[in-house]
Amino acid sequence: MPPTRILIAEDDPISRAILELYLESEGYSYVSAKNGREALDLYNAQPFSIVITDWLMPEMDGTALCQAIRKQAEDRYTFIILITSQNAPKDLIEGLEAGADDFIVKPINPAELRVRLKGCHRILDLENSLKKSLTEIRELSIRDPLTGAFNRGYLDQQLEHEIERTYRYKHPLSLILCDLDHFKRINDTYGHQAGDDVLKRCVQNLLMSSRRHIDWVARYGGEEFVILLPETDAARCSIVAERMRERIAFIPEDSHYPMVNISASFGTVTLLPDSQTDKISAGELLQRADVCLYQAKQSGRNRVVPETEMSSEIIADRRLHRWQYFP
Ligand code: GH3
Ligand code: MG
Ligand code: MG
Ligand code: MG
Repeated sequence: MPPTRILIAEDDPISRAILELYLESEGYSYVSAKNGREALDLYNAQPFSIVITDWLMPEMDGTALCQAIRKQAEDRYTFIILITSQNAPKDLIEGLEAGADDFIVKPINPAELRVRLKGCHRILDLENSLKKSLTEIRELSIRDPLTGAFNRGYLDQQLEHEIERTYRYKHPLSLILCDLDHFKRINDTYGHQAGDDVLKRCVQNLLMSSRRHIDWVARYGGEEFVILLPETDAARCSIVAERMRERIAFIPEDSHYPMVNISASFGTVTLLPDSQTDKISAGELLQRADVCLYQAKQSGRNRVVPETEMSSEIIADRRLHRWQYFP
């Protein structure tokens, strides 16, 4: 069970010494305070997972300490044991209402304290494993299981969020849409597993070319990916997309799949909001990138087409008749 750090709050020196002696013999590390106020200061400096507190103390008593700890929004639970010589039902109710989890009646019996702490560990362990499972479930719910990139659902959510931020702070936001070229040929020549392998390696290449914890790489569809680049202008976005294109086109050099060229095409768009422009929707932004991507496919694949390099006539025309440009 140990080493768990325990905070002791007890004004009586003898009871405090007994507690300390017991916790030390059980291998716990502890910090002691002479009243509730001192305990709360220590707790605020560094939260403890277990607090053992006397009830009657000067300055701040045990129930006030419980209430103060419960008021704080912690990301982990604090188990509070209240030591009391007042064990009438109304006292126990008052202690529980203040936020205590368990009681020990004075004089402290070491055997009783041991079992109380055992129960406390059971609850803290349960809380830990629950938290771990929740983190894992959340990770799974936002990731594409094959490539580890963010999934479509998460992209939709983040894209809205980033567009919102862009309009609020008037900072640029760039988006890259990437589609592997003739990907069907990989599956047809080497099998579906090889296709999966290329998809995974493609994501690794996209991640290597983007900023960790700032840019978002998401699987948009089968062999299509979206890379979201916050705080990035059009010039910088083109450089990043070009770097991604080079990295992906470099894959066949490792001779895994010598009979097929692996490359990808890219369309890029950048939002530069000012107070005059109406807010664009996520779908519209993706559609603009899609128009550029199809232009990249049309003009030979394995290339980057930024929206800034397309004439407004072509953009308007492609939006209306994009389906006609399917190769
Ligand atoms: P283009 O250059 O025009 O994009 O040609 P393409 O062959 O890449 O495009 P197309 O849309 O014709 O084919 C996409 C292929 O991607 C078809 C589909 O079987 C394959 N695909 C989609 N998802 C997966 C996947 O998870 N694993 C594998 N191995 N293949 C996939
Ligand atoms: Mg006391
Ligand atoms: Mg595609
Ligand atoms: Mg493709």
